[in-house]
Amino acid sequence: MSDAQQRLATYRAKRDFSVTAEPAGTAVASGSRRFVVQRHRARRRHYDLRLEVDGVLASWAVPKGPTLDPRARQLAVHVEDHPIEYFDFEGVIPKGQYGGGDVIVWDWGTWQPVRTDDPSKAIQRGELHFDLDGEKLGGRFVLVRRDRDRSGKEQWLLLHKDDDHARAGWDPEDHPRSVKTGRTNEEVAAAPDTLWRSDLPAGEAAIRLGPGSVRSWDPPTEEELGQLDAMDGRGRWLLQGREVRLTNLDKVLFPALARGAPVTKRDLVRYHAVIAPWMLPYLVDRPVNLHRYPEGVDRPGFWHKEVPSHAPEWLTRWRNEEAGPGETECYAVVDSLAALVWMANFGAVELNPWTSRLPRVREPTWALIDIDPGEHTNFDDVVVLARLYRTALAHLEVAATPKVTGKRGVQIWVPIAPGYTFDDTRTWVEKVSRAIGRTVPDLVSWEWHKDRRNGLARLDYTQNAINKTLIAPFSARPAPGAPVSVPIHWDELDDPDLRPDRWTIGTVLDRLDAAGDPLAPLIGRPQRLPAL
Ligand code: MN
Repeated sequence: MSDAQQRLATYRAKRDFSVTAEPAGTAVASGSRRFVVQRHRARRRHYDLRLEVDGVLASWAVPKGPTLDPRARQLAVHVEDHPIEYFDFEGVIPKGQYGGGDVIVWDWGTWQPVRTDDPSKAIQRGELHFDLDGEKLGGRFVLVRRDRDRSGKEQWLLLHKDDDHARAGWDPEDHPRSVKTGRTNEEVAAAPDTLWRSDLPAGEAAIRLGPGSVRSWDPPTEEELGQLDAMDGRGRWLLQGREVRLTNLDKVLFPALARGAPVTKRDLVRYHAVIAPWMLPYLVDRPVNLHRYPEGVDRPGFWHKEVPSHAPEWLTRWRNEEAGPGETECYAVVDSLAALVWMANFGAVELNPWTSRLPRVREPTWALIDIDPGEHTNFDDVVVLARLYRTALAHLEVAATPKVTGKRGVQIWVPIAPGYTFDDTRTWVEKVSRAIGRTVPDLVSWEWHKDRRNGLARLDYTQNAINKTLIAPFSARPAPGAPVSVPIHWDELDDPDLRPDRWTIGTVLDRLDAAGDPLAPLIGRPQRLPAL
């Protein structure tokens, strides 16, 4: 256990979550010192002052809030260190859980210890002088320990020095809005984006919500599926209140595998309906690039981005205001069972969602690692490369999940916090990949052109760019039997039966029942990438 991990033990104990194999509150060392003040309406309203120290957030609960008033002496109760993942949390903690209530990011910025290089020791000794450079708070503060209360919690005082930043009578309650989103606690409580499940390990605790509601989708009913099965070659399917017109349902889209039947458009439509609850979390709020095979996958497919004029009115669209002449203006956003089914009927076999979420299309939410096999790369080589990434990411304490592509390769998806650019993710993935490439130079080529790669694999970091995309989890691939891309557990890389195209639209639901989706807990996880 590292020092920082030890310091999180109290946080974990308080929240009483069961021990899991997933990282719980992984503390990532970082050179920068950040601070945050969260305004937290729980049983009692208070402000939580948190200073980044040695990879965790040293924390004090300040009932009246920090102030610039140099005459004020505010009670500050020293509470347990919080995990770094909590840094920019703004949202709701469910009632009944520890700290149940609503939280906004009231102020944030950087901080600097004064008269010490070892703030952790200064805190142990009970006196810390520090400068804050935030959006609301600035100047020199002092935290000094006084006493313990009846429950054994340390009571400290928080003071502001009478410096250039001091303001007599300054009251934090006069500045109620979040510096992250401009919202008040009341507004966040009314329409939270994020839930903090304090019963889960910190890395999984931030659960992203849709506007005002949990984003999850019910599967189609037996009755709805029965209507599809009973349909002749065409018809109108009413699915969760939306009507989709279906055509050419018995057209073969995928040739058969050795021991099986060919896969028809009806099969793909049905698959999109039943996989929707698993697949939509990766598609919602993102523009999608379609790879269409309307005449079947043994004919050449083509990329299609612009929403056609005959698309149903209810299909969610996003208009790219920055589109140049000849560029796609109107993208589809797949956010319902009906939309996913419409895509199948449209011959959109492969769905490639953007790496960024609307409306911030220049901010990736995933860093993507693509192990792209060459002609001479066999799957054993791909697994060797994936295991090297596994070792590197574990060493860096970065949470990520591999997925087989359904064709020949493996990708690794790394969730990241808001605020990174595509330059950041591309550079980071390139650095990790170059290090891995150096350990197995006989397997990897860095040549841009495929014909100069001598059949070797490429560790492709260039997909970390706006409007560059990888295949969505659970999307079908254009090959016999309709194989699908499937997230796997890391230890499945050691399974001799693993194949990149092991699961098809006919078998992946059973796989999900048995093994779940190991990538799902990482969706929306605000992970900082460690400096390399
Ligand atoms: Mn609190």
